[in-house]
Amino acid sequence: MRCPFCTAEETKVVDSRLTADGYQIRRRRECLQCKERFTTFETAELLVPHIIKNNGNREPFNIQKLRLGLTHALEKRPVSADDLEKAINDIVLQLQATGEREVSSKYVGNLVLDALKSLDKVAYIRFASIYLSFDDIAEFTNEIEKLRLEK
Ligand SMILES: [Zn+2]
Repeated sequence: MRCPFCTAEETKVVDSRLTADGYQIRRRRECLQCKERFTTFETAELLVPHIIKNNGNREPFNIQKLRLGLTHALEKRPVSADDLEKAINDIVLQLQATGEREVSSKYVGNLVLDALKSLDKVAYIRFASIYLSFDDIAEFTNEIEKLRLEK
């Protein structure tokens, strides 16, 4: 596969291992041209449910959208790219594990919130403030209060 840094076509696998849950193969790759290293995850392709948006429209699950949302929340935060990819993979696995054909965007949002909560508290609050509807604000204020108490 192409190097995400310099787009060279030749990359080699330097390490392969099963993830802790045993459902993925994690590969470290190295670009033969620029020597940068990156990680890929290989998973069995399972059905990911479609997303029911707030307005009732359905759309196919889009991993790029998910990645974008997480990346945005994690901007300038001390979270590694590997941890980000792991979080994305976990969310996808959880969606697949529902066995549903469709899930609400709120359901996905909650999975993202859970992931961010354990990754980075600031990113969690950032994402929540954008994602949560006005109705959820009271609930979220309680969540922040809990985080404060946990410290
Ligand atoms: Zn490269």
